[in-house]
Amino acid sequence: MSVIVHHLLRLTVSSAMIIVRLAMPTPLRRSFDYLAPKQLTPQQATLLKPGIRLLAPFGNRQLVGVLLSVTDATDIPESKLKAAIRVLDNTPLLPMSLMSLCQWAANYYQHPIGDVFSNALPTLIRKGGPIIQPQYSAWRLTTEGKGLPVGALKRAAKQAALLALLQQHDHLTAEQLTQSGISRAVIKALEDKKLIERCPAASPHHIPTTTEPPLKLNHEQQHAFEAIKATDEYCCFLLEGVTGSGKTEVYLQLIEQCLKREQQILVLIPEIGLTPQTFSRFQRRFSHNIALLHSGLTDRERQLAWQNARSGAARIVIGTRSAVFTPLPQLGLIIIDEEHDSSFKQQDGFRYCARDLAIKRAYDSHCPIVLGSATPCLETLHNALQGRYQHLHLKQRATGAKTPTLELLDIRHAPLQEGFSPQLISAIAKEIDQHNQVLIFINRRGFSPMLMCHDCGFVAQCEHCDARMTVHFLHRLLRCHHCEHQAPLPNQCPHCHSTQLDFRGIGTERSEQVLHRLFPDVDVIRIDRDTTSRKHAMQTLVNQVHRGQPCILVGTQMLAKGHHFANVTLVAILDADGGLFSADFRGPERMGQLLVQVAGRAGRESKPGRVIIQTHQPEHPLIQHLISNNYHHYARQLLAERKACGLPPYSYLALIRAEANTLAAPESFLHDIRQQTEHQCSTLILGPLPAPMVRKAGSFRVHLLVRSTSRKALHQALTLLCIEAEQHPLCNKVRWSIDVDPGDMH
Ligand code: ADP
Ligand code: ZN
Ligand code: ZN
Repeated sequence: MSVIVHHLLRLTVSSAMIIVRLAMPTPLRRSFDYLAPKQLTPQQATLLKPGIRLLAPFGNRQLVGVLLSVTDATDIPESKLKAAIRVLDNTPLLPMSLMSLCQWAANYYQHPIGDVFSNALPTLIRKGGPIIQPQYSAWRLTTEGKGLPVGALKRAAKQAALLALLQQHDHLTAEQLTQSGISRAVIKALEDKKLIERCPAASPHHIPTTTEPPLKLNHEQQHAFEAIKATDEYCCFLLEGVTGSGKTEVYLQLIEQCLKREQQILVLIPEIGLTPQTFSRFQRRFSHNIALLHSGLTDRERQLAWQNARSGAARIVIGTRSAVFTPLPQLGLIIIDEEHDSSFKQQDGFRYCARDLAIKRAYDSHCPIVLGSATPCLETLHNALQGRYQHLHLKQRATGAKTPTLELLDIRHAPLQEGFSPQLISAIAKEIDQHNQVLIFINRRGFSPMLMCHDCGFVAQCEHCDARMTVHFLHRLLRCHHCEHQAPLPNQCPHCHSTQLDFRGIGTERSEQVLHRLFPDVDVIRIDRDTTSRKHAMQTLVNQVHRGQPCILVGTQMLAKGHHFANVTLVAILDADGGLFSADFRGPERMGQLLVQVAGRAGRESKPGRVIIQTHQPEHPLIQHLISNNYHHYARQLLAERKACGLPPYSYLALIRAEANTLAAPESFLHDIRQQTEHQCSTLILGPLPAPMVRKAGSFRVHLLVRSTSRKALHQALTLLCIEAEQHPLCNKVRWSIDVDPGDMH
């Protein structure tokens, strides 16, 4: 039934004989064949290159697809073939290398190719929008403004700063002015005085102000730098350096080398918080155009940054997870900072790991990649120990500061004041007296994780989840942290009407309150998802800490990530025990990383740091290991345990999750697909097993776990399972997904 057209492009026959194979944004794990658009001239037909977009009919809708290939044969009967409507691009949006990365990822993660492209492309592009020609609105001095002497407007310092900037540059874009710390109000003030006016600007040239010079690398840094610099082909480096060892300085100097060679650099960083600091540190060093890609951008900003990278205008791209798909025609180096961070793995939809895709991308692009961390994940460490990655170490802090010692504080029997032991309280007081800053870490936001009636034992549960409601006292709310559900905080027990309601356990909000009471004259700064949800809120809080006044910071793991607070001398971990009893096999790894990262915030500059860990389990072997040894030894111990249990990295896992509004449906769905495939493959399939939290947001969740020591066997099993699942009669009733190399088992 196949249509065969010879010498495709030389024929003058109707272009209707050309078949375009498209990735369509649908949940189906396949590509779709169409006839080329009807009015296509032979000349236009030559533009049909993989990576362009076409509009095509899909059911009763029109969707934007990405061209995978042009062919002359299809399995679809000619009578059923529909024609695509229109070609949207003259040139491919994604280079071949990224086209193949997307196809590789779709295959590896068993994910619909159309949705992979939806993740890889900026929203506006994915929806069919055009490449935008940015018209940057810029500012320049008016004739009157030019007439002012250097150093004018002295009494209004900010206006004077703006004037000085524009005296040095012909014009500057609004974006550049913002980056230089000039506010809209200041711009408006000078505009009102008719000293400056708007003008068009072609592109957002970076402000070529004087840049910060590089630091002189210490011995260890120099060694790492030389090793990576000497590599101009694919090689994966693990840069394992203790917190504050100057990994970033090594990145910066490597980047400088690449810029000299006219190469582009991709830097991936974890989600949240880190971006402003990282960005400004890079900006102070380089006068090149840097594109920033993170989830806080508007669709238009994102697209512009993406286009700048694609055109080569941006020389450095700094971004979170999805930036791994940014087109970079001159890619010369990839850096993944804090490579262990779980935000590199997408937790829903297309469950890719940006770190792993970046390694694949570096391999395809023949360029080196650097994975940096103080606490590398076990997979990475294993690869380094096996010699697949080149292992580089930075064992000392770059500033000469000592790495802080960890002190265990046994709080069994201690008279706690809402989680704080007397020893901890006096340790905080001592640091504050010496004008230092203190950081308190609690891995739980809200006031308290449990509301209980003292008279009848009632516990507030979420109506939609197998979970307790968290008390948010300030807002007088009960909130479920697993779904969006919230309810007013009751004054009485809904069962027995007693008013003896107990708040059990400590969250950040409660600690903030306690600290206010214990230290009424000290600033207490809370950093968690609730206090940083507004735009720039995080930056404002962090700036306050950087001012260096004595204060107490209290927060969740957001505080553990990469911050460099010079004046923090004491870090306290209020309760280290949670991670010890996690159901997830990655629990101890995560706990170790978190503790080491939090501890790493202490004593980063001239003042020595101290870390106090409160625990009810002072003898627990894992805690002991972490205290007496360093992370590296701890991790090797965990690797030995993983090996003994045949868990990753000594085997490969995939998790098939299924959920529906009854328990029976996902159970029988998973049961059936297991039955259908088991005899055809050699992998171990476990389940159906109830998820650790069976009911979440009203759905019942069940798992199937697939494990193998061979990637190939795992992949074959998943392919079979997928085919069965897509054909199963329940497949429209049950929501199901595949997670290859799952980051968590929830
Ligand atoms: P990491 O990325 O490993 O956490 P950073 O690169 O942030 O470490 O460095 C920590 C601190 O040490 C920073 O204040 C940085 O300016 C300083 N630093 C880094 N390298 C050097 C060096 N070679 N000499 C002096 N100070 C350094
Ligand atoms: Zn009660
Ligand atoms: Zn809930």
